[in-house]
Order: sequence, then structure tokens, then C-alpha cells
Amino acid sequence: MPARDTDHPITIHCPHCGGENILADACARWNVETQQWELSNVFDDTTCVDCGIEVSAIERPVQEGA
Ligand SMILES: [Zn+2]
Repeated sequence: MPARDTDHPITIHCPHCGGENILADACARWNVETQQWELSNVFDDTTCVDCGIEVSAIERPVQEGA
């Protein structure tokens, strides 16, 4: 998943409940130098925490001034 253009931010929504309580599947890799887990890869699979199911998350542009 490529990094987003921060000039055009988006929010991620559940298609069922419309909430933003969405988790994406990801892999983390241990970095010996920083002694922290670093995000290595984020997958397209998303889960709505509120619905408790895997969903196809909807991306919406953040409205200016909203
Ligand atoms: Zn939901």
C-alpha cells in the first residue's frame, strides 16, 4: 500500500456501520538499531472492530474546513 498524498488526506470507513474503527492487516519487522518493531508492509485486508468482521473499507477525502 503506497504512502498517501498528505495534501489530499482521506479517512477510512466501514461500509456497514460507517465507522472509522478500522484495522488493516500488517507486517512488522524488528529493527536492531532502534530496538523497535517497524511497519514493514500494510495489506489491503481491513477489519471493522465495531462489526467484528473483515470489510472492504471505503476511502473518503477529508473535506476542507470540516
Ligand atoms: Zn463496521
